[in-house]
Amino acid sequence: MPTYSIKMRASKSGKHVSGAERILPQQDISRAVSALSERALHHGLGRADFINVKIEEIQPGELQYLEALPVSARPAATVEGSYAIMRQILGELGLAAQADKLVALLRSVHPMRGAVLYDLATDRCIEPDHQRGIRVTYMDAESASATGSCKNHFREAVVLATKVVHAPGVIAELCMSDDPEYVTGYISSLRHGYVRLTPLKEVGNPHGGRIFIFDSRLADAADAINYLEKQRVLVRGLPPERPLNADPQQIFAEELARLKEKSLYRSMRTIDSPQSKYVKMRGRSVLLLASNSYLDLADDERVKQAAAQAALAWGAGSGGSRLTTGNTALHEQLENKLAQFKSTEAALLFNTGYMANVGIISALCDSESVIFSDEYNHASIIDGCRLSKARVVVYKHNDMRDLEKKLQTTAYRKGLIVSDAVFSMDGDIVDLPRLTALGKQYHVLTMIDEAHATGVIGATGKGTVEYYDYACVPDIIMGTLSKALGAEGGFACASKTIIEYLKNKARSFIFATSQAPATLAAALKALEILEAEPRRAQRLQHNVEYFLRCLHDAGVKAESPTAIVPIVIGNEAAALKVADELLQQGCLIPAIRYPTVAKGTARLRVALMSSHTEAELKRTAQLIAAAMKKYAGKQN
Ligand SMILES: *Cc1c(COP(=O)(O)O)cnc(C)c1O
Repeated sequence: MPTYSIKMRASKSGKHVSGAERILPQQDISRAVSALSERALHHGLGRADFINVKIEEIQPGELQYLEALPVSARPAATVEGSYAIMRQILGELGLAAQADKLVALLRSVHPMRGAVLYDLATDRCIEPDHQRGIRVTYMDAESASATGSCKNHFREAVVLATKVVHAPGVIAELCMSDDPEYVTGYISSLRHGYVRLTPLKEVGNPHGGRIFIFDSRLADAADAINYLEKQRVLVRGLPPERPLNADPQQIFAEELARLKEKSLYRSMRTIDSPQSKYVKMRGRSVLLLASNSYLDLADDERVKQAAAQAALAWGAGSGGSRLTTGNTALHEQLENKLAQFKSTEAALLFNTGYMANVGIISALCDSESVIFSDEYNHASIIDGCRLSKARVVVYKHNDMRDLEKKLQTTAYRKGLIVSDAVFSMDGDIVDLPRLTALGKQYHVLTMIDEAHATGVIGATGKGTVEYYDYACVPDIIMGTLSKALGAEGGFACASKTIIEYLKNKARSFIFATSQAPATLAAALKALEILEAEPRRAQRLQHNVEYFLRCLHDAGVKAESPTAIVPIVIGNEAAALKVADELLQQGCLIPAIRYPTVAKGTARLRVALMSSHTEAELKRTAQLIAAAMKKYAGKQN
């Protein structure tokens, strides 16, 4: 049975979109052509408008069979680490003297479609056309199925590398993909096989290159080029998709290494005491200016007693979801209390604020909805939007004109406007009067997330609606029991209709075991205290004003109408240094950096408590000013 080479090149408006080649027995040709043209017609880069398929018979003696190179992986923690391994392998190939030069060449080589042919004997790049480079063709994996229409980059790479190192005079190949998302490259040689190296560059870097290391003392360049471009090769015994010796956890270790390299690796610090204004860390007592327990209720004796009593009276866990066996009188009591506190008809508990946002938004919206979402909204809102499958239209931060423009220019059958009430990284307050007016005018639901508003803003700490003197009310108020209320859990406050709908549709409500008795009792007690002692919220509001005054007196710029006071430093490294210095001085104030906030707007994020004293706040402001003078220069 004769064998054929099939080559497909597809373009759209003159630009290359897809290319592939196969070497197959005659009987598989038509199926392969059909699969290849399907691929060109449904390509991610666009539907091809020109497809060129070339089919050539291969004479029996023309086809060379090669065993695939063995594949191994040498991941490193850093890009430089990968290049150190590349240099080491080059050294073992007797190229120690040229290793630095070759690595530099790979990292700087001109973008071209083909490869550089580097001659060791003359220390020169000798490919005849520097723009085009050397293009290796006429090769395939022997067992590749005729109809595999999905491109398999790994197999194609091993086939190419196997052919290249068999070319006369070629000693090794270095390769780095120009895909900005793909940071794995390889070095291949007959001696070491195909060695995957990762990371060879940072994610997002579009640089790529390919170098054939050749020695003109061993073979004629023309013979090497002729082999690479013309010799028909079938590669046998390809390894499976991922090399057999790869640990399935390897890709995660690689990603962690990349995070570390970009200073985006996250780790936790340990606290050895209850959450209050002073906490114990590594045996030291530090002043906490970063807690969400704004009213210092997480460590309040009465709240703790209520939780303990409830655990003894009601047990440790609830034993079921609300719709099965996990609905107790405590759940209903807390919901009634929340509805009354937020002045709505009804309320519904969720296990966390995160689950509340995800559950509410994905229940109220579907693929026929459009969600208008503030660009600074919390991650749990973003996740709820994603889960809903609705179209999401992001509007400029708290910019009601931009929101209105988007409401006017977007077609929708069902709509929802959703916003943080107090924005968690900037501490500013949503323009609720305009937002709810727009909701009414354009017939869309409105929802706010009061995670940092409850217990914090409004004359008695009831939140955003109170802050605006009850002049405007959104359809859904979402909140959490985990911040000013010092307990745990999320909630929705809304009309009876919405709440009944959520009970029937919100999956994070339906499919989770309900909150534990101790948590519910703690939240109930905290709400009771918040209402009975409005001076707590007022004291917090006073602390914000006082602290801002102290900062201004010390020459530090900051503004905020809420308990979250961002102090923008700008430079990421400087922000970290300032935060470290403050911790040395006994104040825990975290530095917040990209990607949580935009690049170049790194900041200290201070969160105040009602229990901080003026003396503590004044001293903190002075420490901040001093640390910033030392490490951050001028604030812009
Ligand atoms: C903390 C937070 C949440 C999540 O609440 P949890 O109860 O901690 O899950 C939701 N939205 C915003 C704005 C938050 O800050």
